[in-house]
Amino acid sequence: MASVRFNNLSRSFGTVPAVRDLSIEVPDGTLLCLVGPSGCGKTTTLRMVAGLETPDAGEIWVGEQNITKLEPRARQIGMMFQGFALYPHLSVGENIGYPLKVRGVARAERDKRVAEVAKLLDIEPLIHRSVQQISGGQQQRVALARAIIQRPQLYLLDEPISSLDAVLRSTMRGEIKRLQKMLSTAMIVVTHDQLDALSMADTIAVMKDGVLQQLGSPDDVYSRPANTFVAGFVGEPRMNLLPGTIERHDGRLGVRTGDHWLAASEKARPELEKTKADRVTVGIRPSVVKVHRTAAPERIPARVYVAEPEGSRVIYEFRLIDEIFKVESDPELRLQMEEEVFLELRPEALHFFAADQSTGGGRRIA
Ligand code: ATP
Repeated sequence: MASVRFNNLSRSFGTVPAVRDLSIEVPDGTLLCLVGPSGCGKTTTLRMVAGLETPDAGEIWVGEQNITKLEPRARQIGMMFQGFALYPHLSVGENIGYPLKVRGVARAERDKRVAEVAKLLDIEPLIHRSVQQISGGQQQRVALARAIIQRPQLYLLDEPISSLDAVLRSTMRGEIKRLQKMLSTAMIVVTHDQLDALSMADTIAVMKDGVLQQLGSPDDVYSRPANTFVAGFVGEPRMNLLPGTIERHDGRLGVRTGDHWLAASEKARPELEKTKADRVTVGIRPSVVKVHRTAAPERIPARVYVAEPEGSRVIYEFRLIDEIFKVESDPELRLQMEEEVFLELRPEALHFFAADQSTGGGRRIA
């Protein structure tokens, strides 16, 4: 068991830089989620760690060993790749035990380890079934079992649950997290789904165009997004982002956005004072906007564009300064389409980002 470290890892395909100068440490016993939109370089990163792709520059360390040039077989890594292919003519148990068979592990030892891993993943009763006679979710567990049976120093899972329906996905998120904690071995999971990352990871690495945007705990990434990309990518519905300019009002520092002025919190003020940015982007999560039926100073009037009930919550959509603006509310509120309401954007709930390239375009200010 060991920690994993990438130092300044880069890889291009022709003129396409798939991964640029990536440095991340995954402490032993923790789960890192690499998350980002399609094409951001997640799989290329994972393939470099596995030894299936050679980096153009940089190093990969597992514990005290530099594995950058090591053959894939010599890396002691358990892998589960996208579209995990199980051997259709083999039983569940034979599929799970296959990696041990090719390594020449004796039958009795193999059977013992298969039983152990199957128990861990709750698929013991299926061991003698054909993999064609089990459900998609069960197949996913078999693939996981096959990846973990070798007791490697590191696990790599590429989109392990992306092909599952919503209910199974949610179950498997919990299963993977629990499994990783029980194995207590470093694990890197690639996903394009921010909810997978928030719910499973100890550390999240958000990537875009091959570049690391933010590395932090799920709370860091959700509560203090490093830039407008992360702010918009993590969280569902996405964070509302409005254009604004820094402006004082009765001596108080805040931001003007359209016809409205929003006060900055006491905590944010010093950072706004310091910044060279003039134009900013103001962010606020849909879940923290309060909706009132009565007007009051500093409440923003808005008309309901559409209501989207989701059972336990309703997402109301508004238009603010020509931007889509969403608010999450409990179902009791029952607003009608076109109803006029007043939105309260509390100073403590606001995020501020630089808007111009010259001041760090999109970078978090406060
Ligand atoms: P997805 O979620 O769609 O799998 P990803 O984040 O895993 O995407 P990668 O597969 O790592 O992204 O791809 C990163 C970039 O490198 C993309 O622009 C992709 O087209 C390019 N790329 C990846 N593999 C190759 C290859 N073998 N040859 C050429 N270009 C490649």
